[in-house]
Amino acid sequence: MASKNFTNNFITEIIDNDIKSNLSKKIITRFPPEPNGYLHIGHAKSIYINFSIAEKYGGQCNLRFDDTNPLKENIEYVNSIIEDIKWLGFKWHKEPLYASDYFDQMFDFAIDLIKKGLAYVDDQTSEEIKNNRGTLNSPGKESLYRNRSINENIDLFQKMKNGDFKDGEKVLRAKINMASPNINLRDPIIYRILHTKHHRTGNKWCIYPMYDWAHGIEDSMENISHSICTLEFEDHRPLYDWFLEKINIFHPRQIEFARLNLNFTVMSKRKLKILVDNKIVDGWDDPRMPTISGLRRRGYSPESIKNFINQTGVVKRNGVTDISLLEHSLREHLNQISLRVMAVLNPLKVVITNFPKDKTEYLDAKNNPENKEDGTRLVPFSREIYIEKTDFLEDAPKKFFRLSLDKEVRLLHAYYITCNKIIKNDQGEIVELHCEYDPKSKGGWTEDGRKVKGTIHWVSISHAINAQINLYNRLFNNENPLDDKSDFLNNYNPKSLKTVKNAKLEPSLKSAKLNSYYQFVRTGYFSLDKKSSNDQLHFNQSVSLRDSWSKKNKS
Ligand code: ATP
Ligand code: MG
Repeated sequence: MASKNFTNNFITEIIDNDIKSNLSKKIITRFPPEPNGYLHIGHAKSIYINFSIAEKYGGQCNLRFDDTNPLKENIEYVNSIIEDIKWLGFKWHKEPLYASDYFDQMFDFAIDLIKKGLAYVDDQTSEEIKNNRGTLNSPGKESLYRNRSINENIDLFQKMKNGDFKDGEKVLRAKINMASPNINLRDPIIYRILHTKHHRTGNKWCIYPMYDWAHGIEDSMENISHSICTLEFEDHRPLYDWFLEKINIFHPRQIEFARLNLNFTVMSKRKLKILVDNKIVDGWDDPRMPTISGLRRRGYSPESIKNFINQTGVVKRNGVTDISLLEHSLREHLNQISLRVMAVLNPLKVVITNFPKDKTEYLDAKNNPENKEDGTRLVPFSREIYIEKTDFLEDAPKKFFRLSLDKEVRLLHAYYITCNKIIKNDQGEIVELHCEYDPKSKGGWTEDGRKVKGTIHWVSISHAINAQINLYNRLFNNENPLDDKSDFLNNYNPKSLKTVKNAKLEPSLKSAKLNSYYQFVRTGYFSLDKKSSNDQLHFNQSVSLRDSWSKKNKS
């Protein structure tokens, strides 16, 4: 559920006024991704805003693919976007829509604009057009072709459509004002020639509309009441308005909000694609990526993502959100829902010398102390177990409450054990411990009320299953990876993935499923990776147990 401050914000104030003054009746919003990459968490914010506003006003939210650039778009991206929005739990109105469905209409509107003397075919090269655009301080230069007759423009534009010209040979431009202080209004290009097959319209078109021209028409065709976008489009709004006014069709209201930025990562699809194409990460859904699919694979729940976005609010000032807030939201949710299990990442063998050789005892263990309904399971216990290497110290300082020689510790769900012998290899490394257990301490307490400070986890050796565990760290070393003007890849953190090959897990994890949430007790939260097979399990660390955000923000 979206929080109150998320659904009561400067956008909804504008909408309330539009309803009051009868400007809007039905509230229709849209999420308009360009299918040129996978969605990231910034898109999740836009999705959440658009869908929650539609819901608040009993309206509708369309999913519309802004597929106007066939050079960069494809069906894989379309499918991934559909999957991600569904997974987040949002339902768009009817079927997905496509900008390409309006190509005919857009073409007709362009002819109208030419007929009104408001558009012309320009023969300048893209280089010349760029050079003649002027700067913030100086006006642009009018094209020599700006005053072609309406008939000549119609004829040339038809020929552009018919494929009579090569890519880049001509463009159609709006005739607005080359001296406008707003550079977006200096005769923007509205059509370009691209002899490229489109993933939906095939070879029907060899001219494609530019974003600013297309977007307003798409919004208008769908009767979007409020076209919500990010701040970088604020300077494009006069153009959005100009087009709709001149074409004289239904005129949605464009409203801009501040995009979500996160530190220690990059969030533009173009940059994320560089990471994918250079195989720096394992695809768009690499668990280190800020993509929705990456977060899903990492073990994020949709709720944790939405809770995070709720806390970032809807604002009009750009800023950077601390990634530890995202991790904090995940921890909070996983603490409620994750099943607690035992997994040993760096195993050390322990022999319980007074435990019968061939006996297996099944001990009752709570699955989730935060939720009784998650029930209990039986965990096998036997004479030989693994514990974490780091849970034993030969020369333990006073405050070390785990296992050391002649010290007693509690095995979670099991018994107290005392270590009485250390076995080392030729290199002097500890390879095995001999311990004795107290049969009267079953379940972790004794009648004499003896105090044991430490509790450690363990896995029975003969029942253990092997797994590879992927431990993650920040993808970039630098809070703002784009700081390095030469190349953001210089800030890539080569230690962002560490794999543990031979972790030992309790046998209940044999039936672990994708998109289920586990806490490996005392270690962190984990989720099964898609690379798992029956023979080899892979788990991803979703997040550690330690919460750096709470600590930082405590006061
Ligand atoms: P990117 O720059 O990451 O490639 P984009 O804006 O080009 O993103 P689109 O597919 O055009 O990607 O975006 C679809 C919608 O998502 C747009 O309305 C856009 O404003 C919004 N959006 C994109 N990035 C963010 C962000 N970081 N925070 C909030 N909304 C975003
Ligand atoms: Mg874009």
